[in-house]
Amino acid sequence: MDFSVEQGCPQCGASISLGESDRFLVCPFCNVSNYIVTQGAARYTLPVARSVYGEAEDLYFVPYIRFRGAVFQVNSKEISQRVVDTTQLGFTDLNFPPSLGLRPQAMKLQRVTDETAGRFLPLTIKVQSILKRAARLSDMDSSSGADMIHRAFIGESLSFIYLPVWQNDGTLIDAVTNTPLSPALPDTLLAERSSPFQPKWQSDFIAALCPQCGWELEGKGDCLVMPCRNCDTAWELTSRGLVKVPWLQGTSQDNTATWLPFWQISAQMPGLNFNICSDYIRVTSREMVGGLKKIEEMMTFVIPAFKVRPKRFLQTARKMTLAQQLFQLGPGRHMTRMYPANLPRNEARQALKVTLASTASLNKKEVYPLLPRIRFTGIAATLLYLPFHDDGHDFIQEQSGVAIGKNVLQMGRVL
Ligand SMILES: [Zn+2]
Ligand SMILES: [Zn+2]
Repeated sequence: MDFSVEQGCPQCGASISLGESDRFLVCPFCNVSNYIVTQGAARYTLPVARSVYGEAEDLYFVPYIRFRGAVFQVNSKEISQRVVDTTQLGFTDLNFPPSLGLRPQAMKLQRVTDETAGRFLPLTIKVQSILKRAARLSDMDSSSGADMIHRAFIGESLSFIYLPVWQNDGTLIDAVTNTPLSPALPDTLLAERSSPFQPKWQSDFIAALCPQCGWELEGKGDCLVMPCRNCDTAWELTSRGLVKVPWLQGTSQDNTATWLPFWQISAQMPGLNFNICSDYIRVTSREMVGGLKKIEEMMTFVIPAFKVRPKRFLQTARKMTLAQQLFQLGPGRHMTRMYPANLPRNEARQALKVTLASTASLNKKEVYPLLPRIRFTGIAATLLYLPFHDDGHDFIQEQSGVAIGKNVLQMGRVL
């Protein structure tokens, strides 16, 4: 479930409604495009209602951790996966509600900025333990918890959602609904435990212009990698701003092809004697589709650069990795019908082990126990845009025949 966020346009100040994972902001009023750049997790607050309690020094923000993404687990017998979507209390020293329920979906969230009045309570539990608990809450563990070998969180969006509360004569009041929250507490406790807004939380806006030639970059919503129409470079939005990414594209006979993005990631696995395609074939007992011409080359994985449901994601990564010799790659250039890349490079890297496990499913006994020891080094990622033919129901990759349901892509847009 996507939350919506009320966002002021940095150019003209108009209020715009965004999805929570949107990074590309096109103002319908002044037509200026910007990217939102945040260091670390995004921070939002539920809106403070008008209130009789209203002095800023009595307003506190209680953190909830919001996680949404896919969790993959490998045990000795199988790989299981599911979507986790959870919002849990991060400050556990007082008896606040354990979750925000449906409220974040029912109201527009506001981004926390240096103009947000009030003080912020800290996390008292580690984000990792919230994620682990979220994974355990899932039905995966009933079958696979005991001998779990590897777990990965992929395509995750991790954010803070704050519940604003007033402190009024030792009573706490939910500042969204103006209703009392919990019994009295020592007067100074919240003041002592909280801190003001931290400058590093502030989001920046950068103009959506190609850093190399100044041309306007096109994108929408949660799109994270944008090719420049003018100079054919490609740019990934990261916490450091726009970073150039190497990119290649397949060849197509089809003038109406739709182009889907993938991360082609090469990596070494030192100590495993397992670095080139021939090793990979030996260890996984798989044939590479399309022959052996790259057999002595470094092993590369082909991971979707778009979000789809976890089962499809892994299937697609496996099939594309095994079919990679068929893609006829050349320099990337801007085209029409390019599907937005909304899975960042760093998330795709998290998928390497599960993709390896998935392609090695014929040889689990030998490969799965190695997973915890594998360390990838020398990782290099290239964005690939590959041509898919639209047969009405599926997108079908032109060279390999790998099919992706159109409804699967639509669902992936909202995960
Ligand atoms: Zn504007
Ligand atoms: Zn350019």
